[in-house]
Amino acid sequence: MSKSPFVALSLAILVASAAAAAPQAQPVQPAPQPALARVVILATGGTIAGVQPKEGQAGYKSGSVSVESLVAAAPGLEKLAAIKGEQIASIGSQDMNDFVWIKLARRASELLASPDVDGIVVTHGTDTLEETAYFLNLVLKSDKPVVLVGSMRPSTELSAEGPSNLYNAMSVAADPAARGRGVLVVANDTLHAARALQKTHTTSVQTMISVNRGPVAEVLKGTKTVWFLPPAATAPKGTFSIAGLDAMPRVDIVYGHENSDGVQVRAAMAAGAKGIVLAGVGDGNATKETIDALTEAAKAGVVVVRATRVGSGIVRRNIEVNDDKLGFVAALELNPQKARVLLRLALTKTKDVTEIQRIFEEN
Ligand code: ASP
Repeated sequence: MSKSPFVALSLAILVASAAAAAPQAQPVQPAPQPALARVVILATGGTIAGVQPKEGQAGYKSGSVSVESLVAAAPGLEKLAAIKGEQIASIGSQDMNDFVWIKLARRASELLASPDVDGIVVTHGTDTLEETAYFLNLVLKSDKPVVLVGSMRPSTELSAEGPSNLYNAMSVAADPAARGRGVLVVANDTLHAARALQKTHTTSVQTMISVNRGPVAEVLKGTKTVWFLPPAATAPKGTFSIAGLDAMPRVDIVYGHENSDGVQVRAAMAAGAKGIVLAGVGDGNATKETIDALTEAAKAGVVVVRATRVGSGIVRRNIEVNDDKLGFVAALELNPQKARVLLRLALTKTKDVTEIQRIFEEN
């Protein structure tokens, strides 16, 4: 009688489990430790590095302590990554400028290209953090994590949240799951995509919100990061090259309000603006006088982008303003300050409004 294959399989399982149960002499070896990720902190200043002249005083000076002090204030950081620090600038981010941006982007780009670096953390003031994060997202070409972090309370304040934010930023920068997700921002235990986040409160630690899309992840300290969005949702763009970029064209933001006239638009043109972003009322609207002035600007070759001062929502083409007829671009999801960043970079490539609208759709 031939043996059933099931009997043969059962016998094999019995033999295998008996072998597994038999005590075997094992050489005692410590389990191999995974190598720590190598992360470089590029420090630029901000409240995270701020110091109060007197304890308990509301006033403080941004960008006062060094990158070494930031690391020393966050115990446990050394267990997350092998860390190096560099001071790129020591400024409040209200003073952020093209010189620091280009220096920061060039250095980040160099480090990301190195096989000895696994990720980057950028410490930054919160005022213009969303603009820097978006700028870096547009010019850095790498899958390695780049994580920006700041704080709302200066380093000397009661319950300063900088060390905790820095710890979270380091854990994300060292995490292979953060690769291929574009430039990220950590704040108050949440993680945001550069394109989506916005500062929404003057002083609260809960200030960074991804208004239209929600956060990318929650950073659960000491355990793991829980990702809400797939990598494709925030994939790196790197549309523009930092290599030959020494200057970016001037773009001004014109603020919409009741009874606005064309004065701001004409002042921007007189200052040499190559582009104007309207922080319009509602769905990117403005008074007839302002729209007329913007139309004159567009006819003179200044690229006009309509965004909104509202704080959330999407400004589409041709709703109450005939963009096709007037030659305007719609900012879509970008708030005025981010539309300005993208327009400046777009203008380094083209002045064609159809092409610039396409760039807004893809970035
Ligand atoms: N003014 C500060 C800055 O942006 C605010 C902060 O960092 O929270 O540098």
